[in-house]
Amino acid sequence: MTNSTRINQRLSKTVQSIQPSGIRRFFDLASTMDNIISLGVGEPDFVTPWNIREAAFSSMERGFTAYTANAGLLELREEISKYMSQEFSLHYSPASEVLVTVGASEAIDIAIRSLVDPGDEVIVVEPTFVSYAPIVSLAGGVPVSVGTKKEDAFKLTPAQLEAAITPKTKLVMLCFPNNPTGAVMTKEELELISHVIKKHDLLVLSDEIYAELSYDTSHYSIARLPDMRERTVVISGFSKAFAMTGWRLGFTLAPEDITAAMLKIHQYTMMCASTPAQYGALEALQNGLADVKKMVQSYHQRRNFVVKSFAEIGLPCHTPGGAFYAFPSIKNTGFDSGEFAEKLLLEERVAVVPGNVFGAGGEGHIRCSYATSMENLEESVRRIGQFLEKHC
Ligand code: PMP
Repeated sequence: MTNSTRINQRLSKTVQSIQPSGIRRFFDLASTMDNIISLGVGEPDFVTPWNIREAAFSSMERGFTAYTANAGLLELREEISKYMSQEFSLHYSPASEVLVTVGASEAIDIAIRSLVDPGDEVIVVEPTFVSYAPIVSLAGGVPVSVGTKKEDAFKLTPAQLEAAITPKTKLVMLCFPNNPTGAVMTKEELELISHVIKKHDLLVLSDEIYAELSYDTSHYSIARLPDMRERTVVISGFSKAFAMTGWRLGFTLAPEDITAAMLKIHQYTMMCASTPAQYGALEALQNGLADVKKMVQSYHQRRNFVVKSFAEIGLPCHTPGGAFYAFPSIKNTGFDSGEFAEKLLLEERVAVVPGNVFGAGGEGHIRCSYATSMENLEESVRRIGQFLEKHC
């Protein structure tokens, strides 16, 4: 037995049971090729606005290089509280109900670890962000997938939710606007879901990181519905709306007892989020909203272009109400999503993500991020059109 096989066998069984992200394989392949247009990555194509970058430099020049409070700079939590109240009518106390985290990713992890015991079932509404199910498994929970359907515009129906609930169900993970489908849910649709959640006394993790990127209706949080605030953790952050993915800054809004539990994990594992990033975020909230509006307008135009162009080349695509992804159906091509993505990459040099990596309901689709230049979008539509003509 070699040293490395011995060590592999001694890795924790939980870690061994987790698969690496399916998105990676395509990025690794694409990174070895030239002249690729990538519709693969899930991040803004904008650089963080200058005033935010400058605020971070300036904090360092002023010598603010030490840890902040574990929960984050109080000033920043106050701004987050004000912003979420003004923009989304979510009212949380900066001192005890807001926690600044290392990206929305950490926020999701500590929320799940605070609420899930080994053996608890967690309903993961899919297709969705690839991290949810592994995070649940790492916490000892059991992810239970529920696949939304194209016919329902990728929204969760109360009947689907009801059918997935067992006596072991503890929590439901929602993500609207959704990655990868772009689906949004209205107040009325969420209301129906909330009745089921309350009937079974479940908790909710509501990942609202794409809330600002809502194009046709304004975002409505499930935490606003009667008796939902007390059982919901709202996840958000700076990565998407403020084009700050590399800064690693997110936050949670949750009732005091849940926030205190999450803070316990956060203080032992992270201590606090990066100090210069927190000063940048403070500037983002104080003076960055006009830039967010401009970026959202630009995504909105690109959304319209992509949906119209896909229809013209025979790629059926529902209209995504939010985020920056289109999720067209490739069912009539005869390929599964993995084959389609691989052939498209090798033959036409366009990188997209196969829908099956996003869980139940994702097969038969591809995710195309339109957070790239109009020039890239026009050229990728041309190449995908050529690909379809050749194969269909
Ligand atoms: N939630 C969703 C739905 C996402 O799409 C992403 C990033 N792709 C994240 C959370 C992670 O965000 P962050 O970069 O702030 O960790």
